[in-house]
Amino acid sequence: MKSALLVGKRKIEVRDVPDPLIQNRNDVLIQIKAVGICGSDVHYYVHGRIGTQVVSYPYRVGHECAGVVLETGAGVNELKKGDIVAIDPAISCGHCDQCRSNRANTCRYLRFLGTPGQGEGCLCERLVMPAQCCYKVHGGTAFELAAFVEPLSIGIYSVKLYGGVSGKRGAILGCGPIGLSVLISARAYGIERIYATDKIQSRLKHASHLGADWVGNPLNS
Ligand SMILES: [Zn+2]
Ligand SMILES: [Zn+2]
Repeated sequence: MKSALLVGKRKIEVRDVPDPLIQNRNDVLIQIKAVGICGSDVHYYVHGRIGTQVVSYPYRVGHECAGVVLETGAGVNELKKGDIVAIDPAISCGHCDQCRSNRANTCRYLRFLGTPGQGEGCLCERLVMPAQCCYKVHGGTAFELAAFVEPLSIGIYSVKLYGGVSGKRGAILGCGPIGLSVLISARAYGIERIYATDKIQSRLKHASHLGADWVGNPLNS
């Protein structure tokens, strides 16, 4: 299959790589249809690293993706060929103390797609993921939107962590994709007023469009 690979700083090449294969009973083979570009992907592209996570080339980034199920392992019952799925890029071990305490997000053996030292990413034609990372998307959702489930889930989770925003006022400092995900989520959960700031004017336009009641740029005021 074809895969986009980082081969140096600011260098990407499309190369042929071996097809991924179903190896475990709960594996799902997915035809990737859309991949979002995350800020962390840009760091790996431009700087070749984020802190101690250093790319060794060639390396495939990408962790926001959606696609179509091509094949399922013998133990997968809830998904079938042709299903459209959004992917959770965090593959937890299921056995460590964190996983057993319902904190799979802090699994001690977490493998996150497109994170150096953990796993290759999804900028490729086909990908194998465990079934628990594949979320069936209903209603003819566009693949590009389904790929946004991953960053949007961060916004939803942060609003839930706050513990109920209905009828309250909130401020979002920074209206990049994650800030905007928080904004959309807070709106959906019934926040009364949202104040949003960013140094980049175009982002404030998006914030207004998505329902911020007040926007401000600290560079202008
Ligand atoms: Zn990301
Ligand atoms: Zn674990």
